[in-house]
Amino acid sequence: MQRKTGFFFDELCFWHNSALQHVVTFPVGRWVQPPSNTGHAESPETKRRMKNLMDVSGLNRSLYLRSAEPLDDATLKLVHTEAYLQRFKFMSDNGGGILGPEAPMGQGSYEIAKLSAGLTYAAVEVVLNGELDNAYSLSRPPGHHCLPDRAMGFCFLANIALAIEHAKEKVGVGRVAVIDWDVHHGNGTQHIFWERDDVLTISLHQDGCYPEGYSGENDIGAGEGEGFNINIPLMAGAGHNSYLYAVEQIVLPALQRFQPELIIVACGYDANAYDPLARMQLHSGSFREMTHKIQQAADELCHGKLVMVHEGGYTEAYVPFCGLAVMEELSGIRTEVNDPILNAIQLQQPKERFEMFQRQAIDELKSRFGL
Ligand SMILES: [Zn+2]
Repeated sequence: MQRKTGFFFDELCFWHNSALQHVVTFPVGRWVQPPSNTGHAESPETKRRMKNLMDVSGLNRSLYLRSAEPLDDATLKLVHTEAYLQRFKFMSDNGGGILGPEAPMGQGSYEIAKLSAGLTYAAVEVVLNGELDNAYSLSRPPGHHCLPDRAMGFCFLANIALAIEHAKEKVGVGRVAVIDWDVHHGNGTQHIFWERDDVLTISLHQDGCYPEGYSGENDIGAGEGEGFNINIPLMAGAGHNSYLYAVEQIVLPALQRFQPELIIVACGYDANAYDPLARMQLHSGSFREMTHKIQQAADELCHGKLVMVHEGGYTEAYVPFCGLAVMEELSGIRTEVNDPILNAIQLQQPKERFEMFQRQAIDELKSRFGL
């Protein structure tokens, strides 16, 4: 089925500078574009190359390509503390620095982060108001590790949480489900909605990867939010079948029970087999199939309303193929592009005797969550 699919991006997001540096002798920032290869894992090239592959594949001719307005300062306060925003802006206006753990930034990153969050909100808004069927936000910097008062893990504003809070105020959406399949734990989103029963947060992540040592299966939310936070830690080396099993056994039943009005996916690609910051075994077919399952659930539960928001993914060569697969699935349009290493990663999947352990762990979690 072909859909009206939005793709929200802005070249300025690729200019967020995660390594402090110069081009020749000009300090990077404002009107000086960072060099293409910064040497830092959180490089703009993974995202730019995804957009470029979508261009050359011809897919973008059928999508609704848009930019968006940055979120304004008042909206940022729906999630973030005033003191944090001031500290962020001051550092951004004064050459950049290290704003939090694993959160280096350059001159002007405050404005770029507001634009990145604005792209997320715009994608949510057009889907909620029915202008488009579904949408993708190529947000950079990402957002799912960011706390109300602290930047961390390359994240400076909580893009998804901001979009939800702003949409609740402006459009009036009720229950929203956030599924985070970035390979790292979605700790920021979990924290922000910890005591809320109107936002279901589910994170699939590599056990103990980031935040370092974190598993989270006992963290189910508190107060009104008890039972509305689900963590699915998976063991290093988990592949296509384990992820799909977790989606089928836990994510889909949890969505069914929650009955969302909107589904948002924190769409990181760093569970792919070539990522330098994790140790999982997914391929473009895995992202395609997970998107298919979640879109199906959205069709069943909330008139297809699905928004995907870009998070991590650090291999320049491979993220574009995983991203294109997601976009093909969202739009229902298949291009001629072939993933050059799909076959190789499929042959490297864990065999049955090892997958058995992972399935058992997922089954245990499933019964613990009463699903
Ligand atoms: Zn990640």
